[in-house]
Amino acid sequence: MKEKYAAATRELKRRLGARVDVSEKGRFAASFDSSKVSFMPAAVIKPRAEKEIGVVLELANRHRVPVTVRGRGTTLMGSAAPVRGGWVVDMLALNKVAVDADAGLATAHAGATTQAIQDAAAKLGWFFPLDPSSKAYCTIGGNIACNAGGMHGGKYGVTRDFVVALRGFLPTGEFVEWGTATKKFSAGFNLRDLWIGSEGMLGIVTGAVLKLLPQPAARWTLLTSFADEVSALKAAKALFRQRVVPAICEFLDRESVVCAERAMKTTIFPGQAGRPVILLEFAGGAAEIEDVKATVLAWAQEHSLGFREAKSREEAEQLWAVRRKCSGAMFELGDSKLNEDIVVPMRSYEKFARFLAGLKRSAKLAIPTFGHLADGNLHVNIMYHRADAAEAKRAEDAVQKLMETVVALGGAISGEHGIGLAKTPFLRIQHSPAQVKAMQAVKRALDPKGICNPGKMFEPVRIWKFTKLQVSFPWDHK
Ligand SMILES: Cc1cc2nc3c(=O)[nH]c(=O)nc-3n(C[C@H](O)[C@H](O)[C@H](O)COP(=O)(O)OP(=O)(O)OC[C@H]3O[C@@H](n4cnc5c(N)ncnc54)[C@H](O)[C@@H]3O)c2cc1C
Repeated sequence: MKEKYAAATRELKRRLGARVDVSEKGRFAASFDSSKVSFMPAAVIKPRAEKEIGVVLELANRHRVPVTVRGRGTTLMGSAAPVRGGWVVDMLALNKVAVDADAGLATAHAGATTQAIQDAAAKLGWFFPLDPSSKAYCTIGGNIACNAGGMHGGKYGVTRDFVVALRGFLPTGEFVEWGTATKKFSAGFNLRDLWIGSEGMLGIVTGAVLKLLPQPAARWTLLTSFADEVSALKAAKALFRQRVVPAICEFLDRESVVCAERAMKTTIFPGQAGRPVILLEFAGGAAEIEDVKATVLAWAQEHSLGFREAKSREEAEQLWAVRRKCSGAMFELGDSKLNEDIVVPMRSYEKFARFLAGLKRSAKLAIPTFGHLADGNLHVNIMYHRADAAEAKRAEDAVQKLMETVVALGGAISGEHGIGLAKTPFLRIQHSPAQVKAMQAVKRALDPKGICNPGKMFEPVRIWKFTKLQVSFPWDHK
């Protein structure tokens, strides 16, 4: 244990007893997240009551111990890795969910998984649309801290759109509640929204009130293929122009489709191997879906090379295979992936497709790209071999060019993963000095001693230069 925190940790143990784990095994397990870079903490605290978090933060302030809060550690950005050591607060034991079926609201502890909230809502006929691919594992606290999104984002929104109220602790250890379990609240500054996306740097969320929607009665899935990326993206815009709003609109470029087809050992459209595709899903009332079908089928006839319509949920699952398989299959193209969750404004879709084709050529790397076309959040996967220094350098240069380009096109360096450690070199491409200064001022105002998740966001760190642990997670390659 680092001597400098030993006295503080002894006092913490006196106050919280068995909640505090100082074993080598426990500390190692909390030393990394899905970025797989590791920094050993001095202790891990597993609170069973919200008030215990107040005790942790009060002591941390008194002794100046860094505190990193973690949910399930699925972040790929290194945001939950305790880069300055100190204490890790593991939220997984605080995981109760309750649904108010009359009000259409769910109340959840921060350690509840996104899936548990969806399941509790579905039991009572309600729908919680937030759907990060990691939803079976990740926690609502982590979703709130990263403002997580998913495939449903274009129609239903991201975490921010579902959060009605939050409660938890300021970095100083004081308990606060931002809002109540009511859909309207206009009393005072909106610090609830300041917490959303703050990556555990402005306090610890212990509970949330979340808005639910009625379960859609019907779903309809259609897979469409295109000659090339530019025509696929143009076609998507033509669809949106008709004022139809798909629940899901997933694009996969040629390289992503080739990966998926190789993994599925079949081609999606006979005679059209490796064509870019758009997977569409519509959700709503049965009559609404029937209405939309005619418009969408006419659009597919006009714009696509071919299309396949699901007549049942089983057929829909088959169409979904291409999307589910592509990400894991990419590791055939390189043992390392820089997964960049950038955002491109719709008006720049074709420009971006041309830029990406050029980037693939100039970097001489495979860069399979897929993502959510209704909100422009694309996952650009730069594949390389770690042992090949020249390839690794080209991958690093490609990320830099990518970030500069998306910002120049009016987009964002992150749509859902946040900054953490991995995106710190690019924060200042997105934000002007005045904007960064304002964010730092907020951090100082709420966390004067710099206790909560220090070393993140503002200080550029080249995370890909760190040695990665050889560990695997149940959610790897999904
Ligand atoms: C296979 C895979 C698929 C993914 N798919 C998606 C996707 O589709 N969409 C998407 O948005 N993301 C996705 N992610 C990223 C990740 O799952 C999300 O960012 C998720 O929200 C993180 O939740 P977590 O519980 O694992 O948080 P952690 O990884 O433990 O922590 C993430 C950040 O949140 C902070 N934090 C955690 N809990 C709290 C709390 N209670 N109070 C304050 N701060 C807190 C941590 O300090 C850290 O900064 C994916 C990741 C993987 C590995």
